[in-house]
Amino acid sequence: MASVVVFVEQEGGKPVRASLECLGAAKASGGSAVAVVAREGAKEAAATLGRFGAAKVVCLAGAPKHSPDALARDLAKVVREQKASAFLAAATAAGKDVAPRVAAELDATLLSDCTGFEAQGSGFRVVRPWLAGKALATLSSQAPVVCVTTRPNAFAISESAGSAEILEMSASTDGKAVVVSIAPKPGGKLDVKEAPVVVSGGRGLKGPEHFHLIEELAAAFGNAATGASRAVVDAGWRPHAEQVGQTGKTVAPKLYIAVGISGAIQHLAGMRTSKVIVAINKDPEAPIFSVADFGLVADLFQAAPELVLELGKA
Ligand SMILES: Cc1cc2nc3c(=O)[nH]c(=O)nc-3n(C[C@H](O)[C@H](O)[C@H](O)COP(=O)(O)OP(=O)(O)OC[C@H]3O[C@@H](n4cnc5c(N)ncnc54)[C@H](O)[C@@H]3O)c2cc1C
Repeated sequence: MASVVVFVEQEGGKPVRASLECLGAAKASGGSAVAVVAREGAKEAAATLGRFGAAKVVCLAGAPKHSPDALARDLAKVVREQKASAFLAAATAAGKDVAPRVAAELDATLLSDCTGFEAQGSGFRVVRPWLAGKALATLSSQAPVVCVTTRPNAFAISESAGSAEILEMSASTDGKAVVVSIAPKPGGKLDVKEAPVVVSGGRGLKGPEHFHLIEELAAAFGNAATGASRAVVDAGWRPHAEQVGQTGKTVAPKLYIAVGISGAIQHLAGMRTSKVIVAINKDPEAPIFSVADFGLVADLFQAAPELVLELGKA
């Protein structure tokens, strides 16, 4: 069975959710998953990965600072040594940074931001949203090796009682660029790209002073991130890190709630592959309703607090 090398990001020894989904995708494809973890905390993270579908884990040790180009060389080396036919990384900031470099190292094709991945003959078949999510392209690769980034929240995590063989490899320390420091997210908030529930607000909220409605709705779910349309980010009501859309982040949560957002094509580009979309808008003709699974034609100033109350009861 062909092996699939998966770059697993970790924070403080805990693998990040999007990488576990990536491992789930590798396992579901029928390949033997080889996870690679790097940086401080790698060993702690490695010890957990057998449970999430890894047959082997390679721990890159000895590189005090993260360097994307050095990491890419190491990942490509693992792909060659394991004779893997695919390399997978989550389409997160770090995954998007390293995956094209790995593809260049291997002289392989990169298929980015995929929502489907399965074995097909001696190669793989992937699904990628195209044209801002309006079409889904199915691509087949029979190349000796293919590099893929997977969209967060598009794949299921596979958890069982397995264990993995753990190998250690010296990390390259000759990177041309090194990351000097990483600033933590303010307030330890969930990122829109990774949260299973995203509650986004738009210009319908009338001003930043009303965004507590969005925060309260998100808090009522317990595992939700707050998002925003570009109109409110441009107006300075919300930080750019929350912007969903063509020039913001692409999200695919289990549940996306758009509150007071019209649903311009550029916003839809960033959220239309969400599993379930709920829209609250007072205009029944708002384009957001064309992609919504559940639509509430209502004044958000009344509907949002009522929803918070009902969620509290539930
Ligand atoms: C190149 C380019 C890139 C862009 N990239 C992005 C992007 O990444 N993300 C993005 O979001 N946009 C992007 N835009 C902007 C996009 O075209 C829209 O202008 C923007 O999404 C509109 O934001 P909005 O829906 O919050 O505001 P509006 O379009 O003003 O919509 C506000 C909505 O709130 C509703 N509303 C008002 N009051 C209430 C109420 N009391 N209760 C309920 N509903 C109410 C209204 O009916 C309306 O539908 C981009 C544009 C361009 C040109």
